[in-house]
Amino acid sequence: MANLDTLIQDLVIANRILAKEDVVDAYGHISVRHPDKPNHFFISRSLAPELIEKDDIVELGLDGQPVKDEKRSLYLERFIHAAIYEMRPDVTAVVHAHAEDILPFGIAKATPLKPVIHSGSFIGMNVPVWDIADTFGDHTDVLVRNMDHGRDLAKCLGSDNVALMRGHGFASAARTLIEVVRMSVYLPRNARAQMRARMLGGEIKGLSQGEIDARNSGYSPYSNETWRAWEYWANKASCGHMLTRPDGGAVHVHDHKHEHKK
Ligand code: MN
Repeated sequence: MANLDTLIQDLVIANRILAKEDVVDAYGHISVRHPDKPNHFFISRSLAPELIEKDDIVELGLDGQPVKDEKRSLYLERFIHAAIYEMRPDVTAVVHAHAEDILPFGIAKATPLKPVIHSGSFIGMNVPVWDIADTFGDHTDVLVRNMDHGRDLAKCLGSDNVALMRGHGFASAARTLIEVVRMSVYLPRNARAQMRARMLGGEIKGLSQGEIDARNSGYSPYSNETWRAWEYWANKASCGHMLTRPDGGAVHVHDHKHEHKK
């Protein structure tokens, strides 16, 4: 299926974008659900996102195990993705990362992360914090190492878009790759704005539910505004040449050369 090829290429682009935007470093990962087999999803083998090529992408089942014979090492925390896909049929793309700016909100119990800037609206009003110790005690290594851990996290995420993971990172879930990348890029920026506003003191006025709803209702994955960001990020991450648009629209690739280590 031709679309599968394009989807996997988009997943490679998404990996490179998240690396370039400092959402992930050597750790952290992004996946996308198989469009024809909803019980399968695509994710890289265990590799830093910046280095991922198409051949690194593997197909896993909702048990987090490879559907074909696979000798290469896989991400230890692939169960985050498997469990969210299992619990959320509406979700097509998942990110797990450790972006530094969100970490304080996973450990400061008195201060929930809230959407406070327009680009942060997609995280939604409620951002739950998952604490692995609540269910699994205080002797885990804090990693999501199996389906039990993953399902506990997915349960905490519920119908929300982002869950923070205490002392660890976050998991975000969305309907499309573009959407999950955008949310994951703006999540740390939203956290930074909220943190800095707190340093200024006084009341912090976040987005209202009405403002969040209005932003959501205007959203479409291939609108000019959404595409503009994806195209920009992909070019910035030296992936402009890999861009394709499912709606056949024009793709802009700028040709001045960036430093690109291979
Ligand atoms: Mn992790």
